[in-house]
Amino acid sequence: MDKETFRQYGYEFVDWIADYLENVRKYPVRSAAKPGDIKSLLPAHPPEESEDMADIWKDFQSIILPGITHWQHPGWFAFFPANNSPASVLGELLTAGIGAQCMVWETSPAAAELEETVLEWLRQMLGLPEGLSGVIQDTASTATLTALLTAREVASGFSSNETGVAGNMRVYASAEAHSSIEKGVKIAGYGRSNLCYIPTDENYSMRSDRLEQAIRDDIDAGRKPACVVATIGTTSSTAIDPLPEIGRICRKYGIWLHVDAAFTGTAAILEENSDLLKGSEYADSFVFNPHKWLFTNFDCSAYFVKDPELLIRTMTINPEYLRTASDEKVNNYRDWGIQLGRRFRALKLWFVIREYGVGGLKEIVRKHIRLAQLFAYRIKSSEEFELLAPVTTNLVCFRWNDGSKSTKELNEFNKNLLALINNSGSVYLTHTVLSGCYTLRMAVGQRTTEKEDIARAWEVIKTSLELIK
Ligand SMILES: *Cc1c(COP(=O)(O)O)cnc(C)c1O
Repeated sequence: MDKETFRQYGYEFVDWIADYLENVRKYPVRSAAKPGDIKSLLPAHPPEESEDMADIWKDFQSIILPGITHWQHPGWFAFFPANNSPASVLGELLTAGIGAQCMVWETSPAAAELEETVLEWLRQMLGLPEGLSGVIQDTASTATLTALLTAREVASGFSSNETGVAGNMRVYASAEAHSSIEKGVKIAGYGRSNLCYIPTDENYSMRSDRLEQAIRDDIDAGRKPACVVATIGTTSSTAIDPLPEIGRICRKYGIWLHVDAAFTGTAAILEENSDLLKGSEYADSFVFNPHKWLFTNFDCSAYFVKDPELLIRTMTINPEYLRTASDEKVNNYRDWGIQLGRRFRALKLWFVIREYGVGGLKEIVRKHIRLAQLFAYRIKSSEEFELLAPVTTNLVCFRWNDGSKSTKELNEFNKNLLALINNSGSVYLTHTVLSGCYTLRMAVGQRTTEKEDIARAWEVIKTSLELIK
């Protein structure tokens, strides 16, 4: 591609993205594509000859776009948010343009030092304890796996990397913990049978008395407690595990404490939520995702550790061809995680924090929480709907229930209701199961979601209800 063509399409794409972000509400939130629809429109073999950018661009619009589910739609209430922002997109564009692979300090000193700096900014914004060191991982799943690997090394006296995992090393998490814990436990070689799920209370928070009991039972049986994962904001219902109590237990028994605040951690930037991370002084590691609810496009996950030496000792590999003269004086982030090659992710985060300012970020996060409360109020004041979990931040768990049906019938009814709601195309909600009840989830966190969008969601829900009643 010559420079002029690059320029032409570069301008055109930026124009297109600006319009897209402005008008995304015109698309159906969830793609209507059926399995195989998109693939059937794509050639089975790659082109031998160069193709015109005009044709590629045309195909993007006619083939790819209909197969896109629009996460930036103001009617996005599904799963969890994964929002972007204009500042983030511009940062990402420069990252792609520079094309630097930032595996060690020397391969781009600015990338390493900006990463160190913006993660320190994030630490301050969340009110995490001083002295934590941060590193960007691709996802919370990777960060949690990294924590499990470090905990495994520490619990084995740094022998498991050398000789493999021996004995029954145990990991504890609440029954509501994210599936990435189980995946990490399997990959890290603990064995899934060594993942101990701790029962939760009526708010779906981990019961710390049951945690301590499980740890004692394991010690008595000759097993080795290695890691506790506490969740601040479960994905299912944003339940908050009691961090101070869990932290004291971990300290008492000398167990690694990893905190998974992937989704809800963002809420801690608000003064009124300073309680959310109370007890984080006990954490050995902590993860939250700016790529979920902090306007930084996927992927960007912030991982903090109390003692980077333990992390580095777990991860370091130092073949001759990767050694550089500055190794002693700088952070070589290849030793702070699993992958060697690293994208320059700190740039978009830096753009986002500077362009919004911390005050601007707080304003929009506060708005989301207020909108969720508003929706929860509608549910509470309706005779036909009920809340199924406390609304701790920006997620509302609810269902239709007029009191006339059995649990089984209610589950079927609410499942059908959700399908109808989503067929409307103007909003997208997903579900979970809480205490055996099929539960609709309304997660408010899209950058451009406003009061009218909540009102529209409520209208869609009521209309869908009329249709199936
Ligand atoms: C979303 C989520 C994860 C996984 O995040 P990824 O970055 O997609 O790996 C882990 N834990 C919780 C609590 C989450 O909400």
